[in-house]
Amino acid sequence: MLALISSGVAVTRAEIARRTGLARSTVSLRVDALIAHGFVDEGAEAPSTGGRPPRRLSLRTRGYAVAGIDIGASHCRVALLDVGGALLVAREDPLTIADGPEAVLGHVERTLRTLLETAGGAASRTLRAIGVGVPGPVEFSTGRPVDPPIMPGWHHYAIPEFFEERFGVRALVDNDVNVMALAEQRRAWPDALHLLYLKVGTGIGCGIVADGRVHRGARGAAGDIGHIRVGERDNPCRCGNSGCLEAIAGGASLAQRLRESGLEAAGSLDIVRLVGEGNSKAVRMVREAGRAVGEVLSGLVNFFNPETVVVGGALAAVHDQLLAGVREAVYRRSNPLATHVLRIEPSRLGENAAAIGAAILAIEHALSPAQVDRALTTDATAV
Ligand SMILES: [Zn+2]
Repeated sequence: MLALISSGVAVTRAEIARRTGLARSTVSLRVDALIAHGFVDEGAEAPSTGGRPPRRLSLRTRGYAVAGIDIGASHCRVALLDVGGALLVAREDPLTIADGPEAVLGHVERTLRTLLETAGGAASRTLRAIGVGVPGPVEFSTGRPVDPPIMPGWHHYAIPEFFEERFGVRALVDNDVNVMALAEQRRAWPDALHLLYLKVGTGIGCGIVADGRVHRGARGAAGDIGHIRVGERDNPCRCGNSGCLEAIAGGASLAQRLRESGLEAAGSLDIVRLVGEGNSKAVRMVREAGRAVGEVLSGLVNFFNPETVVVGGALAAVHDQLLAGVREAVYRRSNPLATHVLRIEPSRLGENAAAIGAAILAIEHALSPAQVDRALTTDATAV
């Protein structure tokens, strides 16, 4: 019922009864409960064909919020959105994930409390749920990172419990690439039910939306494409193997090769700068990186048949060069049936993608039938 109301498909009691086949009295009881628990507003009278004009129902967005938290290797971004998905406020701070969970999450907690007190002017907002994206593999059912390579001290750390104990609402934790894929699909490509999100930065990963849902695989490791072997190359990789995509096209490896040729390049941002300055070596390297990404992507396209591939991450800032290489390889190697309607596009949400995606995770949880039922029957916060 709540989905019908929030999507605008059915916004009066009579329409809901018609759509669901439920008795008017049942619908009314349920709608009254949704109103009483702050999920729904009853507003102005809708046009009527006769009799008493029905009142229009809508998702209640005032008073409530969800938090979307994007924890990166060297930054954290905390955003508050209303449950309708509108961004209320966001803040980004530099932060070192290698400082460990207590330091990082303590900082996030303080930021979130500040935002909750100040968001939307005078009135503070009640949290419905929290979503968190982290730069490493996560077992989604428990929300715990599993051997995350760039997050020392975080293995199996109970991130959901950290937030649940302090804020009294459910917290969901996912890999950052998964929440970015979710954000791009829901916000920029709602008609593309099959979407891949490629993050090309220091490392390379892929978020998968299949049939409108994030596909995480059996243990949350789906989309870890950085260590797929490309061609017959033998570039050594940090994972111990050689010829991995990340060792050929990742920002860390590109920067290293630029340094070896005498240029100043600490990481992805320097590559973006050099390409912007028209440095021919950097331009050629990014194009080659795009072709290597495209080589792996062409296999993914044949296998998965997405409608849209979104390319994000720090190197997507030079998408003219990167995407030229990607497209070249994909259209040369993929099955024409799979590429017929395929779009390969740069990220549209940019730096907010992970925080918004984490918030969408929280909204979809908080407004799911199971959680709403729970809130209505237990009279408690929707944990
Ligand atoms: Zn590797």
